[in-house]
Amino acid sequence: MREILIATGNPGKAREMREILIPEDSPMTGKVRWRFLEEFSGWPEAVEDGDTFEANACRKAMHYARLSGLWTLADDSGLEVDALNGQPGVLSARFAGEARDDAANNALLLEKLVGVPPERRAARFRCAAVISDGNVILAAAGGAIEGRIIDQPRGSNGFGYDPLFLVPALGQTSAELSSEQKHAISHRGQALARLSEQLFAILRAEAGGGI
Ligand code: IMP
Repeated sequence: MREILIATGNPGKAREMREILIPEDSPMTGKVRWRFLEEFSGWPEAVEDGDTFEANACRKAMHYARLSGLWTLADDSGLEVDALNGQPGVLSARFAGEARDDAANNALLLEKLVGVPPERRAARFRCAAVISDGNVILAAAGGAIEGRIIDQPRGSNGFGYDPLFLVPALGQTSAELSSEQKHAISHRGQALARLSEQLFAILRAEAGGGI
Protein backbone atom coordinates (compact mmCIF):
# COMPACT_ATOMS: atom_id res chain seq x y z
CA MET A 1 0.00 0.00 0.00
CA ARG A 2 1.35 3.45 -0.93
CA GLU A 3 1.80 5.83 2.03
CA ILE A 4 1.17 9.47 1.18
CA LEU A 5 1.74 12.37 3.56
CA ILE A 6 -0.76 15.24 3.46
CA ALA A 7 1.50 18.15 4.33
CA THR A 8 -0.38 21.04 5.85
CA GLY A 9 -0.18 22.52 9.32
CA ASN A 10 -3.28 24.68 8.79
CA PRO A 11 -6.15 22.95 10.65
CA GLY A 12 -8.86 24.39 8.35
CA LYS A 13 -7.06 23.19 5.26
CA ALA A 14 -6.22 19.83 6.84
CA ARG A 15 -9.90 19.20 7.59
CA GLU A 16 -10.95 20.11 4.05
CA MET A 17 -8.18 18.02 2.48
CA ARG A 18 -9.28 14.99 4.51
CA GLU A 19 -12.93 15.52 3.54
CA ILE A 20 -12.13 15.90 -0.16
CA LEU A 21 -9.42 13.24 -0.51
CA ILE A 22 -10.76 10.57 1.81
CA PRO A 23 -14.53 10.26 1.33
CA GLU A 24 -16.05 6.95 2.49
CA ASP A 25 -16.45 5.70 -1.09
CA SER A 26 -12.95 6.73 -2.22
CA PRO A 27 -11.50 4.61 -5.05
CA MET A 28 -8.19 5.01 -3.19
CA THR A 29 -9.45 3.00 -0.19
CA GLY A 30 -7.11 0.07 0.34
CA LYS A 31 -4.59 1.56 -2.11
CA VAL A 32 -3.32 4.52 -0.08
CA ARG A 33 -2.49 4.90 3.57
CA TRP A 34 -2.79 8.62 4.23
CA ARG A 35 -0.40 10.12 6.76
CA PHE A 36 -0.67 13.55 8.39
CA LEU A 37 1.84 16.15 9.53
CA GLU A 38 0.50 16.01 13.09
CA GLU A 39 1.88 12.43 13.37
CA PHE A 40 5.40 13.83 13.15
CA SER A 41 7.25 16.42 15.21
CA GLY A 42 10.45 18.42 15.20
CA TRP A 43 10.50 19.16 11.48
CA PRO A 44 11.40 22.68 10.30
CA GLU A 45 8.65 24.40 8.32
CA ALA A 46 8.99 24.68 4.56
CA VAL A 47 10.22 28.04 3.27
CA GLU A 48 7.38 29.46 1.16
CA ASP A 49 9.23 32.16 -0.73
CA GLY A 50 7.89 31.46 -4.22
CA ASP A 51 6.05 34.08 -6.29
CA THR A 52 3.25 31.73 -7.27
CA PHE A 53 0.95 29.20 -5.60
CA GLU A 54 2.44 26.51 -7.86
CA ALA A 55 6.01 27.29 -6.77
CA ASN A 56 5.11 27.23 -3.09
CA ALA A 57 3.10 24.01 -3.38
CA CYS A 58 6.18 22.39 -4.99
CA ARG A 59 8.48 23.74 -2.26
CA LYS A 60 6.22 22.36 0.49
CA ALA A 61 5.76 18.96 -1.13
CA MET A 62 9.51 18.55 -1.87
CA HIS A 63 10.48 19.69 1.63
CA TYR A 64 8.20 17.29 3.51
CA ALA A 65 8.82 14.41 1.09
CA ARG A 66 12.55 14.69 1.79
CA LEU A 67 11.97 14.83 5.55
CA SER A 68 9.48 11.96 5.63
CA GLY A 69 10.77 9.74 2.83
CA LEU A 70 7.11 9.49 1.73
CA TRP A 71 5.25 10.68 -1.33
CA THR A 72 3.88 14.01 -0.16
CA LEU A 73 0.82 15.97 -1.21
CA ALA A 74 0.81 19.73 -0.55
CA ASP A 75 -1.49 22.56 -1.54
CA ASP A 76 -0.76 26.25 -1.64
CA SER A 77 -3.73 28.53 -1.89
CA GLY A 78 -4.94 32.03 -1.31
CA LEU A 79 -7.13 34.95 -2.22
CA GLU A 80 -6.53 37.40 -5.08
CA VAL A 81 -8.45 40.69 -4.93
CA ASP A 82 -8.49 42.69 -8.18
CA ALA A 83 -8.84 46.09 -6.47
CA LEU A 84 -5.66 45.26 -4.49
CA ASN A 85 -3.71 44.22 -7.61
CA GLY A 86 -4.00 40.55 -6.69
CA GLN A 87 -3.11 40.92 -3.01
CA PRO A 88 -2.95 39.12 -0.62
CA GLY A 89 -2.08 36.31 -3.11
CA VAL A 90 0.75 34.06 -1.95
CA LEU A 91 0.87 36.07 1.28
CA SER A 92 -2.76 35.26 2.16
CA ALA A 93 -1.97 33.34 5.36
CA ARG A 94 0.40 36.05 6.61
CA PHE A 95 -1.43 39.14 5.27
CA ALA A 96 -1.62 40.77 8.73
CA GLY A 97 1.60 39.23 10.02
CA GLU A 98 3.46 36.05 10.88
CA ALA A 99 0.80 35.02 13.44
CA ARG A 100 -1.38 33.80 10.51
CA ASP A 101 -4.45 35.06 12.33
CA ASP A 102 -7.63 34.69 10.23
CA ALA A 103 -9.50 37.43 12.12
CA ALA A 104 -6.63 39.89 11.74
CA ASN A 105 -6.28 39.01 8.03
CA ASN A 106 -9.99 39.60 7.47
CA ALA A 107 -9.89 42.91 9.37
CA LEU A 108 -6.96 44.10 7.26
CA LEU A 109 -8.71 43.07 4.05
CA LEU A 110 -11.82 45.07 5.01
CA GLU A 111 -9.67 48.06 5.97
CA LYS A 112 -7.92 48.04 2.59
CA LEU A 113 -11.26 47.87 0.77
CA VAL A 114 -12.98 50.74 2.61
CA GLY A 115 -14.65 52.95 -0.02
CA VAL A 116 -14.32 50.35 -2.81
CA PRO A 117 -17.83 49.80 -4.28
CA PRO A 118 -19.28 46.24 -4.63
CA GLU A 119 -18.76 46.14 -8.41
CA ARG A 120 -15.00 46.65 -7.93
CA ARG A 121 -14.59 43.95 -5.27
CA ALA A 122 -14.07 40.99 -7.58
CA ALA A 123 -11.80 38.31 -6.11
CA ARG A 124 -10.94 34.66 -6.48
CA PHE A 125 -9.54 31.83 -4.43
CA ARG A 126 -6.81 29.86 -6.15
CA CYS A 127 -5.29 26.52 -5.19
CA ALA A 128 -2.27 24.67 -6.55
CA ALA A 129 -1.85 21.06 -5.41
CA VAL A 130 1.07 18.75 -6.11
CA ILE A 131 2.49 15.37 -5.14
CA SER A 132 6.25 14.89 -4.90
CA ASP A 133 8.49 11.96 -4.07
CA GLY A 134 11.26 14.32 -2.92
CA ASN A 135 13.01 14.31 -6.29
CA VAL A 136 10.38 15.18 -8.85
CA ILE A 137 6.80 16.38 -9.01
CA LEU A 138 4.66 13.33 -9.77
CA ALA A 139 1.33 15.12 -10.22
CA ALA A 140 0.12 18.72 -10.28
CA ALA A 141 -3.28 20.39 -10.60
CA GLY A 142 -4.99 23.71 -9.95
CA GLY A 143 -8.39 25.21 -9.29
CA ALA A 144 -10.02 28.61 -8.91
CA ILE A 145 -13.37 30.05 -7.83
CA GLU A 146 -14.57 33.57 -8.63
CA GLY A 147 -16.38 35.71 -6.09
CA ARG A 148 -16.69 39.11 -4.46
CA ILE A 149 -15.55 40.52 -1.13
CA ILE A 150 -18.41 41.82 1.02
CA ASP A 151 -18.01 44.30 3.85
CA GLN A 152 -19.54 42.33 6.75
CA PRO A 153 -18.56 38.73 7.60
CA ARG A 154 -21.33 36.16 7.05
CA GLY A 155 -21.39 32.50 8.10
CA SER A 156 -19.35 30.35 10.43
CA ASN A 157 -18.25 27.36 8.34
CA GLY A 158 -14.92 27.09 6.55
CA PHE A 159 -11.89 29.10 7.60
CA GLY A 160 -9.70 32.03 6.54
CA TYR A 161 -11.41 34.56 4.29
CA ASP A 162 -14.55 32.44 3.78
CA PRO A 163 -16.91 34.76 5.76
CA LEU A 164 -16.03 37.67 3.42
CA PHE A 165 -16.07 35.72 0.12
CA LEU A 166 -19.46 35.90 -1.61
CA VAL A 167 -20.17 33.30 -4.27
CA PRO A 168 -22.46 35.42 -6.48
CA ALA A 169 -24.20 32.50 -8.21
CA LEU A 170 -25.36 31.16 -4.82
CA GLY A 171 -25.84 34.47 -2.99
CA GLN A 172 -23.93 33.00 -0.04
CA THR A 173 -20.44 33.37 1.34
CA SER A 174 -18.28 30.29 1.33
CA ALA A 175 -18.64 30.30 5.13
CA GLU A 176 -22.42 29.91 4.70
CA LEU A 177 -22.04 26.81 2.51
CA SER A 178 -21.94 23.30 3.94
CA SER A 179 -18.62 21.47 3.51
CA GLU A 180 -20.14 19.39 0.68
CA GLN A 181 -21.40 22.50 -1.13
CA LYS A 182 -18.06 24.27 -0.75
CA HIS A 183 -15.95 21.30 -1.90
CA ALA A 184 -18.16 20.80 -4.98
CA ILE A 185 -17.20 24.23 -6.34
CA SER A 186 -14.13 25.42 -4.46
CA HIS A 187 -10.60 26.00 -5.71
CA ARG A 188 -9.39 23.21 -3.39
CA GLY A 189 -12.19 20.84 -4.39
CA GLN A 190 -11.33 21.30 -8.09
CA ALA A 191 -7.57 21.00 -7.62
CA LEU A 192 -7.74 17.90 -5.42
CA ALA A 193 -10.28 16.16 -7.67
CA ARG A 194 -7.92 16.65 -10.63
CA LEU A 195 -4.91 15.59 -8.58
CA SER A 196 -6.73 12.47 -7.36
CA GLU A 197 -7.40 11.40 -10.96
CA GLN A 198 -3.68 11.69 -11.75
CA LEU A 199 -2.73 9.83 -8.58
CA PHE A 200 -5.15 7.03 -9.33
CA ALA A 201 -3.68 6.69 -12.83
CA ILE A 202 -0.15 6.50 -11.37
CA LEU A 203 -1.17 3.85 -8.83
CA ARG A 204 -2.96 1.86 -11.53
CA ALA A 205 0.15 1.96 -13.74
CA GLU A 206 2.33 0.90 -10.77
CA ALA A 207 0.04 -2.05 -10.19
CA GLY A 208 0.35 -3.05 -13.85
CA GLY A 209 -3.19 -1.85 -14.57
CA GLY A 210 -4.60 -4.14 -11.91
CA ILE A 211 -6.56 -1.64 -9.81
P1 IMP B 1 -1.24 28.42 2.74
O1 IMP B 1 -1.38 27.48 3.89
O2 IMP B 1 0.10 29.08 2.66
O3 IMP B 1 -1.64 27.78 1.45
O4 IMP B 1 -2.23 29.62 3.03
C1 IMP B 1 -3.51 29.64 2.58
C2 IMP B 1 -4.23 30.86 3.12
O5 IMP B 1 -5.09 31.35 2.09
C3 IMP B 1 -5.12 30.52 4.30
O6 IMP B 1 -4.48 30.74 5.53
C4 IMP B 1 -6.29 31.46 4.09
O7 IMP B 1 -5.98 32.71 4.63
C5 IMP B 1 -6.39 31.57 2.58
N1 IMP B 1 -7.27 30.53 2.02
C6 IMP B 1 -6.89 29.50 1.21
N2 IMP B 1 -7.95 28.72 0.92
C7 IMP B 1 -8.98 29.26 1.57
C8 IMP B 1 -10.34 28.87 1.66
O8 IMP B 1 -10.80 27.84 1.13
N3 IMP B 1 -11.12 29.66 2.42
C9 IMP B 1 -10.65 30.78 3.04
N4 IMP B 1 -9.40 31.16 3.01
C10 IMP B 1 -8.55 30.40 2.27
